[in-house]
Amino acid sequence: MATMPWTATLDYDYPDTRTVDDDAWAPAFRAAVQDQRSAVEKIAADDSPAEVANVLHAFALSGSRLRQLEQAFGVLIAADGTEKRQQIRTELAPELAAHQDWISLHPGLFTRFQQLQQRITSGDVTASAEQQWFLDQQIRKAEVAGADLDPAVQTELKEINQQLALEESAYTQLQLKEAADSPFQLSLFVQQPALAEEQDRQQRRRLFEASVNRGTLAGEDGRTTREIGARIAVLRAQKAQLLGYPNFLESVLPLRTAPSRTAVESMLARIGTGARERAEQEVARINEVLADDLDDPLQPWDLSFGLEKVKATLETESSGGGDLTLDEALERLFDAARRVYGITVVPRPDLPGYVPGAMSFEVFDGSAGETGSGLGLFLLDLYSRDTKSGGAWMNGFRVPSSLAETKAVVTNNLNLDPVAEGEQTVLSTREQRTLFHEFGHALHALLAVAEFPQLSGTAVPRDNVEFPSQVNEVFQELYRGGPAAGATPSEDELWGKGASTLEHVAAVVIDLAWHTLSPEEAAAAAEDPTGFEQKVLQDWGLDMPMVPPRYHGGFFKHVFAGSGYAAGYYSYLWAQVLAADASEWFREVMQNNDDDALAFRGTQFRQELLSRGNTRDPLQSYRAALGRDPDPVALMRSLGLE
Ligand SMILES: [Zn+2]
Repeated sequence: MATMPWTATLDYDYPDTRTVDDDAWAPAFRAAVQDQRSAVEKIAADDSPAEVANVLHAFALSGSRLRQLEQAFGVLIAADGTEKRQQIRTELAPELAAHQDWISLHPGLFTRFQQLQQRITSGDVTASAEQQWFLDQQIRKAEVAGADLDPAVQTELKEINQQLALEESAYTQLQLKEAADSPFQLSLFVQQPALAEEQDRQQRRRLFEASVNRGTLAGEDGRTTREIGARIAVLRAQKAQLLGYPNFLESVLPLRTAPSRTAVESMLARIGTGARERAEQEVARINEVLADDLDDPLQPWDLSFGLEKVKATLETESSGGGDLTLDEALERLFDAARRVYGITVVPRPDLPGYVPGAMSFEVFDGSAGETGSGLGLFLLDLYSRDTKSGGAWMNGFRVPSSLAETKAVVTNNLNLDPVAEGEQTVLSTREQRTLFHEFGHALHALLAVAEFPQLSGTAVPRDNVEFPSQVNEVFQELYRGGPAAGATPSEDELWGKGASTLEHVAAVVIDLAWHTLSPEEAAAAAEDPTGFEQKVLQDWGLDMPMVPPRYHGGFFKHVFAGSGYAAGYYSYLWAQVLAADASEWFREVMQNNDDDALAFRGTQFRQELLSRGNTRDPLQSYRAALGRDPDPVALMRSLGLE
């Protein structure tokens, strides 16, 4: 039996990363893949009647070793991605992807899942709701991968998958090359942050054009990212057709929370129409304010500058609450979780950080130290380092699972500037918000109650992940106040929301448009990708030259550089609808300073939603927690669109 790359583990089975030998990753991964292969072959070859134990439990545990490795490696490469670790990832990625394909398309395993389903349906086997849900997920996943297709069609599907992987990688590479060639350091969205401050109009124009013209550089084979993106859309449409779906979006919806294409589109139409009106008003106002400074009409490169100019004249209430020291910020963070969810977070300086400088905490249900009340570990790496990814994120070493007998070991990662020895770290209001946001993800994992590790905590569909983290941000208002529940922000506070919402919705619509085509329609659109997107925006009433979409197909990394967010860029808005609604629900009790009422709702939210993770339909959890369907009105109001 191959060993793990670490030689020691600590409380809660937390790997002691100081003992990690990087040379041991590749052999350990390969051994774990072999492990799972033999386990899956054994499940498939079993000719005894299908039971929960010999199918579901056996399958769920078959990848335990591999999951542990993936989790630990995922934590370390993000927080400390040395060149060596990057190489290991590049080397192993194709093998691990092929292994996942092998499982999804394993005919014997799929048959066992179906046999178990038949025995449950006929009443020979009883399954809990979570077991039934897990089985449904496995069957749906296998179907979406093509497990029930003819072998000839499966071969075709595999070929398309390979082409897709190549095209997505070509898109990524060319985007990187284009970025490296650009005279500007460009951030993701069309509207560059520097445009807001740039006084020189010609300079604004150059920066904006460099940004919006991304996707025009031809790679070695003469194609641009625009063209590669369009080709990817064609391949995805073909793939969906092979799987028996009318388009790519329909082929991925079964594994998402959004109930239907109509549900997504009606949300977009509602938000998009209001945002367009508001954006028109904003542009008109900017025109008035800048009229004397400009000798010709307003242009898209003047938008951010104009928004900023007007904003400076407005009375916006500072709801920021000011800077906090790290100690103060952590005290609020943990105190809020205590008041809302009844948990206690205790420093564990005796446990080493998973990277130098990281802090360790233990989390208890109720008060600290009672036997059996430990929920797991919370590990926090605050400061940037050369080998660390940008931004902030949550991941972890372990998830709670009664089957795997594991508890949570989760990490939060930020990128604060390191401070000198003996100096206090100070967090801006934005950094405090990030801290609360990421801790919301951490709570989703820490409070999870699941049988299957695959369904635990944050293992929810793509369009549901960002919701609990956004909700946690509202608890900052316990310490610095906030808007009253149901209050509409003032016109001054809403300044700029029209343009920012419009450019967001327009990008969502472009993503959806590319992924709701038949193969023939996609091929026609690929003839003129720019014209296609233009037409789509017109049809939706979102074509406003002054406010272009934040992404177009030429530099839409989320959607074309991989398939994670393909037909899924709407997820952020979807999560915002849920988060705004649930935040209002908490505000209703927060504004009365009634801690009992807050704890009551907190318990409900924890028991019916956070703890459930993906052990049942997340929409069902939402209804159980709040007693009703999500209502988009809270988000509409916060954007001034009600
Ligand atoms: Zn997040």
